[in-house]
Amino acid sequence: MPSFTGLNFSGGPGALPLEVLLETKEAIARAPGTNQSILGISHRSDWFKNVVLESESYFRQLLNIPSDYHVLQLQGGSTLQFSMIPILLLRGKNKTAEYLRTGYWSAKSIPEAHREGKVELLFDGKDQGYRRLPNKEELKHDPNAAYFHYVSNETVEGLQFHYLPGIKGVPRICDMSSDFLCRPMDIKDFDLVYAHAQKNLGPSGLTVVVIKNSLLKDAPDNVHAMLDYKNHVEMGSIYNTPPVFAMYVTMLVARWLLKTIGGTAKMEQINKRKAEMLYGLLDERPEFFISHARKTDRSIMNVAFRLPNAELEKKFLETATKADFYGLEGHRSIGGLRASLYNAVTEEDTAHLVQFMRDFYKRNRQ
Ligand SMILES: *Cc1c(COP(=O)(O)O)cnc(C)c1O
Repeated sequence: MPSFTGLNFSGGPGALPLEVLLETKEAIARAPGTNQSILGISHRSDWFKNVVLESESYFRQLLNIPSDYHVLQLQGGSTLQFSMIPILLLRGKNKTAEYLRTGYWSAKSIPEAHREGKVELLFDGKDQGYRRLPNKEELKHDPNAAYFHYVSNETVEGLQFHYLPGIKGVPRICDMSSDFLCRPMDIKDFDLVYAHAQKNLGPSGLTVVVIKNSLLKDAPDNVHAMLDYKNHVEMGSIYNTPPVFAMYVTMLVARWLLKTIGGTAKMEQINKRKAEMLYGLLDERPEFFISHARKTDRSIMNVAFRLPNAELEKKFLETATKADFYGLEGHRSIGGLRASLYNAVTEEDTAHLVQFMRDFYKRNRQ
């Protein structure tokens, strides 16, 4: 089936499944089971409360989430989680939070933690241009740390953890914004996981937070209501007016992943085949497609690479646009090129891109 729009390889907002785009189109005219547009439905209606519950049930099934974890849908993006986490776990506590600085996004989370207390960097990849992740043996954890925070997939640099960092006994907290639900995981390894929708999950506007109930027991008093997880738990993620439309579309994506794809294990097989196709070409022509990340840390979601010079990169982007591909420019912080292969990017779309890149190579090799 042809894509609804051009082929979206953007780092975010990412591609959405065609099936979901078509359902969304219907819901804009009339939401199923109502006589209203999804854009005008009350967030206090039973209909919408059921959407939130339906979404939650898909997340629980997809990740096998036990009942002592809450599933929240919050606003403020993943960036607000950079603040809400240290407010909850570091404020007023005489403890240190452990962070890894592995790329653009983890680097943004750290100054927010500093506002609330002591922070220790267990790894800093900045001087090496964020080309690799730490090896497990490099990380020296303190068993008394307040918590340990890392980013499972550095979206900008295309670095992804393929092992579980952290130690037992210290709350493990992970920003999974760009690889949430791309593969199976054991949620019980984590105390808090967060992922905004706009990379791998839906349109922008909400952030899914899965938080273990025990993490809330030492919450500080007097936190502003919007920044207080306990408040959002109590209100079932509808404290103020939430992004109704984005939450509806995200529910459709979660349903698609569970019912059409068949869950995270199936999704991982597809994602691996897509990544192998693209990295296969990079490895075949390493003098032309210059990969950013160390091989063992390569992301199956974001493939960051360069061409031999800036002129060729410009030409690549112009040619790609004409061929109906978009979102292939690298992040402004590192430049170059990047192809994002989020869950909704199909194998067929990936094969088109790889063929396009092969042709570009043949016409432009020196
Ligand atoms: C894009 C991104 C963010 C920023 O998220 P916002 O929702 O824009 O605040 C944070 N973390 C990671 C890993 C990202 O990829």
